[in-house]
Amino acid sequence: MPGFWNTLFSRSRATGAADPVLRVGSISESDWREAAALPLFSGLTPSDFANLRALAEQLLADKTLTPVSDARLDGVACAAIALQAVLPILNLGYAVYRGWREIILYPGEFVPDREVTDDFGIVHRVRQPLSGEAWEGGPLVLSLDDVAVSGQCQGYNVVIHEFAHKLDMRNGAVDGLPVLHSGMPVEAWSTAFNTAYDDFCRRVDADQETDLDPYAAESPAEFFAVLSEYFFEAPDILSATYPAVYEQMRLYYRQDPLLRLAPYLQGMNPQ
Ligand SMILES: [Zn+2]
Repeated sequence: MPGFWNTLFSRSRATGAADPVLRVGSISESDWREAAALPLFSGLTPSDFANLRALAEQLLADKTLTPVSDARLDGVACAAIALQAVLPILNLGYAVYRGWREIILYPGEFVPDREVTDDFGIVHRVRQPLSGEAWEGGPLVLSLDDVAVSGQCQGYNVVIHEFAHKLDMRNGAVDGLPVLHSGMPVEAWSTAFNTAYDDFCRRVDADQETDLDPYAAESPAEFFAVLSEYFFEAPDILSATYPAVYEQMRLYYRQDPLLRLAPYLQGMNPQ
């Protein structure tokens, strides 16, 4: 791998020649409608949805989508990736996604063969199946099988996960602390996240059942990315488990999915 891609952050859950890249013009109106029908987008106002679509088209004009390993990328998948990718920045503006170019798409989980050096200087060969990864300063990689099960309001969303890493990377350190808006004290963010992270790691270490994916205990960066999935996909679970984290994310993303999705979630779990 080129040296300037010095850090990557992946999602745990075979490369051939790249196919021709799908351009934004290949997506029909019916493809957009089908992608927009995902439960994730329930409750968006027509005006919100118009903004989401405009941001999605901006993403597709700015980034190259590159299918590899015989991945088949149709118009619906392309629209679904773009719409889910820009949901976190609906009220942040597109500029936060600039500075890198490529989204690489595998048909399913992929197993990179790479070497990592540990704290003692020992090099290990790592082969671990991934559903996505985000390179600092480089591409974002997604498994289309995992994209296909994202957006169902089940708490899992590989697209939001990897784009959350990209947001986290904007200030250099990939540590679960993105660039906060003015009026958002770092202390409030750190207190909410550190308290929740310590509690969550303790539960996972004790083999307790958790409502959140135990993968979030991997690191503060993964905690932020996984909890971003819950913020948009299952805000009821996140706000019930770590309300202070939900509040910080509401301020950061400038959205309130709990409010927006309440009728949909109520329909899924009637009292
Ligand atoms: Zn990750």
